[in-house]
Amino acid sequence: MLTDTVGIFTERGGTIAFLLSKDGIVVVDSQFPEQSNHLIDELKKRSEKPFKLLINTHHHGDHSSGNISFKGIVEHVLAHENSKKNQEISAKRNNSEDKQLYPDQTYSNTWCQSFGKEKICVDYFGPGHTNGDSIIHFQHANVAHMGDLLFNRRHPFVDRSAGAHIKNWITVLEKAVKKFDRKTKFVFGHAAEGYEITGSLDDLNLFRDYLENVVRFVEAGIKTGKKKEEILKATEIPGSPQWKGDGIQRPLDAAFEELVG
Ligand SMILES: [Zn+2]
Ligand SMILES: [Zn+2]
Repeated sequence: MLTDTVGIFTERGGTIAFLLSKDGIVVVDSQFPEQSNHLIDELKKRSEKPFKLLINTHHHGDHSSGNISFKGIVEHVLAHENSKKNQEISAKRNNSEDKQLYPDQTYSNTWCQSFGKEKICVDYFGPGHTNGDSIIHFQHANVAHMGDLLFNRRHPFVDRSAGAHIKNWITVLEKAVKKFDRKTKFVFGHAAEGYEITGSLDDLNLFRDYLENVVRFVEAGIKTGKKKEEILKATEIPGSPQWKGDGIQRPLDAAFEELVG
């Protein structure tokens, strides 16, 4: 538990957050079916209230594949309108439509609803990790789930096929920094080994700087006539040495494609 009513759960996939209120249970993200079954069992032990709402931060399988476990259990599923479209497109492509539980509610810019003492507000600040990333704020608890808009000290996946945009991702993080405060507890989709899946505004600012350093590095490479293959050979992003390990090619490749347009 992060507070007396809001907690997190993680086994395999993007971090799940949940709210236990007197009006019912709200869950953010669902990992995979097996994981969501474990989560549902665990939450049933802690509350006799109904599952009111499942929110997906975005459509990726490690955040929405477990939706199916909530079929017939949860009253509503909510996601950004683009997230729903992306989920449908991916499911058709992967021939897995029968394994999906799609959102029955969508929104464009912002969405709010009260559950007991808690008020949940969901914001869309434009394309980032995909073109359908929501930030979910439990206002009373002051906990914000960032989904995959925040990879804590880990090189991010940048899903250009689903409308990701690194430069705008920077803007999205700046909007989040303005909206939240020093006391906000943040939940991250993923973290590198040894780092936390929760954190503070400092982590948002550091990841914002990391993305800016990625763009700056690739931009400089392009200006000096480097080919993409040469840029992808980098083992560290100058200015952001805390980001280590696998996957550095993903943001570099995405930044290159974005910059050469
Ligand atoms: Zn993820
Ligand atoms: Zn993702």
